[in-house]
Amino acid sequence: MYNFPNVIRASGVFANEMYHQKLSQKIKKVAQQLGFELVGITQADPPKMIDRYQKWLDKGYAGKMDYLKRHLNLKRDPKTILSEVKSVISVGMNYHTIEPDSARKIDPLRGQISRYAWGDDYHDIIRTKLKKLVKIIEKISRKETRNRVFVDSGPVLEREYAKNAGLGWLAKNTNLINWEKGSWYFLAEILIDIPLQPDQIEPRGSCGTCTLCIEACPTDAIVEPNILDSRLCISYLTIELKESIPREIRSNMGNLIFGCDICQEVCPWNSKATPSSEKGFQPRKGNLLPKLTSLMNMTQEEFNRRFKGSPVKRSKRRGFLRNVAVALGNSKDKSAVTVLRKALNDSEPLVRGHAAWGLGQIGGDDAIQALRVRLKIEENPEVIDELKIAIDST
Ligand code: SF4
Ligand code: SF4
Repeated sequence: MYNFPNVIRASGVFANEMYHQKLSQKIKKVAQQLGFELVGITQADPPKMIDRYQKWLDKGYAGKMDYLKRHLNLKRDPKTILSEVKSVISVGMNYHTIEPDSARKIDPLRGQISRYAWGDDYHDIIRTKLKKLVKIIEKISRKETRNRVFVDSGPVLEREYAKNAGLGWLAKNTNLINWEKGSWYFLAEILIDIPLQPDQIEPRGSCGTCTLCIEACPTDAIVEPNILDSRLCISYLTIELKESIPREIRSNMGNLIFGCDICQEVCPWNSKATPSSEKGFQPRKGNLLPKLTSLMNMTQEEFNRRFKGSPVKRSKRRGFLRNVAVALGNSKDKSAVTVLRKALNDSEPLVRGHAAWGLGQIGGDDAIQALRVRLKIEENPEVIDELKIAIDST
């Protein structure tokens, strides 16, 4: 004898599954149409890598990024952020635009800005697209959703969700690499209360025995495969750190003035990178290998104007000019003395201190003279130290 109500229930469950399967497929199609080349879905389970992440924090590898410590408990379970969450939609957006001229790239009087910051602020571009995707999901599913949208700085272990959603593997350089497209991707995600069908993609690609990124890192910041000591990483030092760059690292920074792409540039998987079609990520005029001497002369107004709506504004003028002063010091080029001498009188002690270091690296009579003159009137103790060390080093 049939248990009729159970048959009805079973067919209802089946229909429900079919519905969510179809909805998931539609969502991925729409996400791709919106420009997310990588898209996948995973369940909103607590992340398995949380203990490893806590150990990373405990070792101090996050440096002064205190917000990462504050996010720890939220990162333990996405339900603490959105109690009704069922699924995570992970997306990746290509920011691989053009290749800069390699000869100009090694010109020590030109600075390198990390590829992700050549164009407009990706947070705004991606958040707008994700919100649009949510609206379309609500339209297709004919219901309002509970959701949260995060673009790379949210309290979620986004790389684990991206990996689980089938976007790629977590590589030795700590980036997520997709086996077909490489790693020049911004990651972002939507936490949503719909039980979507998770992707079950066989993992493909791996770092294997390759260690190119670890060997290429100029500051040995990749302390173990997939473990980064941010305190040594040029991306952290030039963007997140708000104070002095440790003196012992400065000479390893070359002409990198905002971020660093070296561990992605050397990765063989990025030889497959295709160009991004997103207009907002195309390099703004002057962001590709800018002249360091012009940057060093920027007033606050010029900085605001030039980097309005750009990721570079995150370092603020004082942090950016600090980086430029270090790069000019590394150039060892006497033509930089004039702008660094002027920067010794900057209103920001951070800029004055690093300009002193830069002059110390370049050396010569003019540099020493400028350092001595400033030492007579300088009142900030940190800058006084920098001036004395710079004079001694010449
Ligand atoms: Fe090293 Fe640069 Fe990669 Fe940081 S971004 S780990 S400094 S190569
Ligand atoms: Fe992995 Fe080699 Fe790429 Fe590093 S350079 S991320 S080790 S494949």
